[in-house]
Amino acid sequence: MRVEYSYLPAQFADPSRILSDLPALIRSGDYTLGEPVREFERRFAQAMGARFAIGVNSGTDALFLSLVALGVGPGDEVITMPSTFVATVGAIVATGARPVFVDVTDEFTIDPAKIEAAIGPRTTLLLPVHWAGHPADMPEIMRIAERHELPVVEDSCQALGGAVDGRTTGTFGATGCFSLHPLKNLNVWGDGGVIITDSPEIDERLRLLRNHGLSDRDTVACWGYNSRLDSLQAIVANHLIEEFALITERRIRNAARLDAGLADVAQIEIPPRHPRKRYVYHLYVVQADDRDGLLEHLVGAGVEAKIHYPRPLHLQPAAKELGYREGSFPVCEAQAGRIITLPAHQHLSDEQIDAMIEAVRSYYGA
Ligand SMILES: *Cc1c(COP(=O)(O)O)cnc(C)c1O
Repeated sequence: MRVEYSYLPAQFADPSRILSDLPALIRSGDYTLGEPVREFERRFAQAMGARFAIGVNSGTDALFLSLVALGVGPGDEVITMPSTFVATVGAIVATGARPVFVDVTDEFTIDPAKIEAAIGPRTTLLLPVHWAGHPADMPEIMRIAERHELPVVEDSCQALGGAVDGRTTGTFGATGCFSLHPLKNLNVWGDGGVIITDSPEIDERLRLLRNHGLSDRDTVACWGYNSRLDSLQAIVANHLIEEFALITERRIRNAARLDAGLADVAQIEIPPRHPRKRYVYHLYVVQADDRDGLLEHLVGAGVEAKIHYPRPLHLQPAAKELGYREGSFPVCEAQAGRIITLPAHQHLSDEQIDAMIEAVRSYYGA
């Protein structure tokens, strides 16, 4: 039985409902910042329990524009973790600031106990990542941020619908950043992103920054960028937002089935599942003994398992000038050799999940 990683052909097997909205868009010519974008922003803000949502061109730009809106620039330092997707760190570097890394916990998110040691006179902002759909420890991170009077931007690109103590990821910080990339849980037909905030000032600033700093057609209030969410993608997002609760429920169910099937395999370490957190499993990641052998075995058995990611960012060629080395972040480095991602998406059948469990168990003779 094949278990594929990509579910996009299945997800959009019948695009007729989405396509039926396109003729009206084409007749209107409302391609940029049109009514579909305003509608998506209203619905997204409401779904997240935030006051404002600002549609942008990508999750990367959601992060970059948030940092710019909060005044981050050359000479500043921004604290994040080294085992995130490159975009988190790329957005920091694009502002001219320097990324400062902090090691992670056994949940693959930034370790709050190690943040204060990384705060220095140039630290301007904390950028926690809700990696894999595992919410970072936001209450503790917010306490640290308040103590040091630092703003927080949440990289929630992988954690749409996650929560800590019933509060949605993305609503703790000054802004929460989301991606609508095809591989994310709420996905459009290309690039897209969205930022949420409760601050009218930040909302206004972001609306200027994403559209050339134009406060009206002829007035440049500040220098900005071109980073708008397309009307076309907003139409797709407006359909997907209706299915999103169901998508999330299915992923949570699939992850629970994998957890149950792997719980007694001694060579598999399932990360903690704290009852106060809602995990949304953008990725289903566990640690495994003899990981490379397991990966080869799974791929041979038709299971498209992957590694996110084999080399942390502080050990990438691009990070040379940051001065880190092997051993700088022992927890994250040890995890890099042990993590494996199994498909857990909403289009898997119970039979496929059970086949995956069986393939892992048979590798270890469990
Ligand atoms: C996907 C992702 C981004 C960037 O989103 P894009 O829409 O692809 O630009 C940023 N951070 C994390 C953690 C991501 O997974």
